[in-house]
Order: sequence, then C-alpha cells, then structure tokens
Amino acid sequence: MDPSIVWLRRDLRLHDNVALFEACRRDARVCLAFVLDPSLLRSERVGAPIVQAFFDALAALRANLRELGSDLALLEGDFATELSRLARRIGAREVFYNEDYEPEAIARDASVTAALEQEGVVMHASLDHVYFGADEIQLDGGQPYKVFTPFKRRWIERRHPLPRPPVPSAQLAKGCLLSAESIGTTRGVPRPEDFGHRSSARFPHVSEKRARALLGTFLRSGGAVERYEVERNFPANDGTSHLSPHLRAGTIGIRECFERAFERRDESRGHVRASVEAWIGELIWREFYQMILARFPHVATEPFLPAAARIPWRSSEEDFAAWCAGRTGYPLIDAAMRQLNECGWMHNRLRMLVASFLTKDLLLDWRRGERYFEEHLADADVAQNNGGWQWAASTGTDAAPYFRIFNPMRQSAIFDPSGTFIRQHVPELRKLPDAHIHRPSTAPPLLLAEAGIEIGRTYPAPIVDHAVARVRALDAFAPVLRAAKPRETMRAKKRPGV
Ligand SMILES: Cc1cc2nc3c(=O)[nH]c(=O)nc-3n(C[C@H](O)[C@H](O)[C@H](O)COP(=O)(O)OP(=O)(O)OC[C@H]3O[C@@H](n4cnc5c(N)ncnc54)[C@H](O)[C@@H]3O)c2cc1C
Repeated sequence: MDPSIVWLRRDLRLHDNVALFEACRRDARVCLAFVLDPSLLRSERVGAPIVQAFFDALAALRANLRELGSDLALLEGDFATELSRLARRIGAREVFYNEDYEPEAIARDASVTAALEQEGVVMHASLDHVYFGADEIQLDGGQPYKVFTPFKRRWIERRHPLPRPPVPSAQLAKGCLLSAESIGTTRGVPRPEDFGHRSSARFPHVSEKRARALLGTFLRSGGAVERYEVERNFPANDGTSHLSPHLRAGTIGIRECFERAFERRDESRGHVRASVEAWIGELIWREFYQMILARFPHVATEPFLPAAARIPWRSSEEDFAAWCAGRTGYPLIDAAMRQLNECGWMHNRLRMLVASFLTKDLLLDWRRGERYFEEHLADADVAQNNGGWQWAASTGTDAAPYFRIFNPMRQSAIFDPSGTFIRQHVPELRKLPDAHIHRPSTAPPLLLAEAGIEIGRTYPAPIVDHAVARVRALDAFAPVLRAAKPRETMRAKKRPGV
C-alpha cells in the first residue's frame, strides 16, 4: 500500500495523536510532516515565545522519530505546494491531519484540502485538539451553550466512553513509520533568530517528554493538584500545571490530561478530590472556549455581546505603553506584565487582573490586550485568549459582570500578601516593607528613601486613580450593557477563584 502523510500543525507528539493513529491503522507506512510558513513566522502576530516553543517541540519530535528509524519531513513554504511535492516524492496518496478551530486555520485547511484533492490526494480530518467536537456538547435543540456551568455538567455526563483511544508510541516503534531513507533529507529545525525573533532560556521549554513529566509530577500523590483549588490563585506559590504551552503546541493530548485527571479524581477523597475536580473544571473551560470560537466565530474580531460594540473605549497610547511595559504604578499589575515580557507566560489570576485593569481602569479596548498577549505568550491560543479577554472585559459569553471590577491593590494584598511575586519581577521595590509593597506611592517618604525608591523616577506613580477609574468604567459600561442585555450580564456566574 502507498505510504501516507500525517500533516502536523498543533499536535507535535507521537503519543495519543488521533491523526497518527488513524494513519497507522491502515496497513501502510506513515511520514510525519510539518510545514513552516515563513510569512506567518515573520509576522508581528507571532511572538518569540511561541516560535521558540514550536521549534523546541519540532526538534524533540525529530529526535524521537530518528530513534524510531524515521524522520520528520520539515518543509518550508506554501502549505499545499510543499505537501503535494512531498506526496509526489514519497508516493503518498492520503494525508491525515487533526482539525483546528481557529478561523484562519479553518480557511487554510479548506484551501489546502481543495488543492490536494485536485491532485488526487485524499484528505482525512480527525478530532484531536478537543475531547468533544463543537457540536457534541450542545443543548437538546442543537443550540450551543452560552453559559459554562450547564455546559460542564453535560460534558461530564457525556464523557464515557473515551471517544478515541490513545495510541501508545510503542505501537509506532513496531513499524508503521516510513524509514528515514525513504523520506530523504528535509530542512533542519530553525532557530527563532532565523525568523527575526529572540530566544530566551526563560521561555517555557516545550517537548513531548517534558509535557508528560509535568503532567505526571502535577498529578502524582503529593503533587500540586492536591492543593490546586487554593494554591492556583497565588502566583508566588506556582500551584498550576504549566501545561498550557504544551496543550498549545500539542506536545500533550487533551484526552490524556482528562483521562489521567479523572483517574486521579476517582482515587481521591475530600479536599484532594475537590482540587482535582477544580483542575478538571479548568480543562473544561478550555473546551468551552474552543466550542464558543467554533460556534460563534465572530468573537475572533467582535464582542460576543453585540451591544458591547458600543462601549466607548478610550485611546491612550501612553497608558497602553505603560501597561505593556509593566510601568503602571500598580505593583502586581507591573509584576504580571514583566513576567509576561520576560517569561512568555503569565499566571491565570494575573491574566484576569491585568485584563481587568486594561479594560476597566484604563478603559482601553480588550482587542489591544488580546493582541499583546497573542504576541507575547508561549501558549497564545485564539480561543482561550479571546475567551479570557472577553470575560474580563464583560463583553463575552458567561463573562464577568461589568460592575465587578478588580481592585488591583486589594487583589495584590490577598494573592501576594507578602509581595514575594512582586519582588521577583519588580526588583526596584524589593526593599520596600510588606505593608507598603502593594501601594508604594502612599508609603512614608523616609521609608521610600531607605528602600532607594523615588516615586516618579525609579518607580512610576499610579497612572490612574483606581477609585476614579472605577467610576469612569461604570459610567461607560452601564448604559451599554445594563440597557441592552440585562439578563445575560447580571446572571453571569462568578468565575472560579474570583
Ligand atoms: C485574559 C486571559 C487570556 C488568556 N489567554 C490564554 C491563552 O492564550 N492560552 C491559554 O492556553 N490560556 C489562556 N488563558 C487561560 C489561563 O490563564 C491559562 O490557560 C493558564 O494560566 C495556563 O497555566 P497552566 O497551564 O498552569 O494552567 P492550569 O491551571 O494548570 O490549567 C490546566 C489547563 O486548563 C486550561 N485552562 C486553565 N485555565 C483556563 C481558563 N481560564 N480558560 C480556558 N482554559 C483554561 C489550560 O489549557 C491550562 O493549561 C487566558 C486567561 C485570561 C484571563
């Protein structure tokens, strides 16, 4: 039988990869291919952390394939041209791939499919990126859910049986992979610098091996999942799994995360069980936002709530630049933005907090923040990023009610009480006593002098007064959202951990 191609995109792993499983089920050899798109890699929308994450994952995948006597066909250029050239070279007549839910990816897949099918290549799409497809969990009448809690309930009810079995990589070693000689030489894995990006040892390290180690450590007995319900809210305590860049590049599969988490839940009791359930709930938020993007694709560019298009956003380049640089004068906001800029990742509570600050305190359009995150996160993902931003801006489905506005100083005192996280990322405040770390501008001048801080020079004065900004935000949001969608916004659930 002719060999086939598995076209990898956001599924850079061998274990539990549905397209690979489907290809291996046929009695033919399989070549794994990835196409680098130079114009996307050079575009402003793709940031250094995610480029590095993907290149790391590709290098690790190639090493794994070589150990199994095969190789990764790494191509560069136009998707359809490169895949059809590879198909002709190795004599493949079928291409397997996993579906993507992002609008641009859907358009790309449609055009590649049309082009390859014209050449007689059969394309097979599989569901891999989410546990359930966008129309598998819906209301009885076929309408999509718009509220998370009933979606979650239905999701959990429908979970069994596992829709697609995991494929152990041992099976691949048994011989479904095309040999390295038959694939021939393809391009080397580039460095981020080759496409104009910087690399950094502080960005997340992404590979299949690392993903599985992270999942194992997180879920094991005594692991962070046991304290997740509480600890996930404290950025200094590092109580989350750090799997998001892996779920983005697909170095771990979502089925494996769910299955292992449910196993862990079933053997747990009391607060540990509640904690595992809280983690499962977050994985289901991911499914929820993927479903929302697929069923309401307008959210990629517009607010979910049509009325929210009338929110009178400000446009202040100065405020936006201060937010981006972590120089707002609000220490936890600044620490969070500097964590993002330096590490390519940000803690969830801080994402909620900085998003609220941008959209409420600064009254700047959520799309600006969404775009900035997209360019700076190693886990940047349209569905979750958009869902998170629209939640914080009160423009989304099941979003934060517009009148619930985070107080950045109170949040800081609750979730970073002794300023440990702030001190890690805002070194100029390191010497300030705990009592003033959340609000340096009001510290006594003598203390500031002793800590080597000069407000307005070594550390900025607050760029807005939160109390004043809160009233400004309420004045802007209330006429639009209260009048237009009272039930949808008032009913909105409190987000876990808020
Ligand atoms: C404004 C904003 C923007 C965000 N942008 C992204 C993004 O681009 N990519 C992204 O993966 N997540 C995004 N999130 C969700 C969340 O912040 C991250 O998934 C989480 O911080 C990743 O850390 P972790 O893997 O340690 O999470 P854990 O707490 O260990 O959670 C496990 C997994 O569950 C999923 N998850 C957790 N929280 C959420 C959530 N609130 N919504 C949806 N899925 C969730 C993620 O896949 C995560 O890896 C955003 C949240 C907000 C508020």
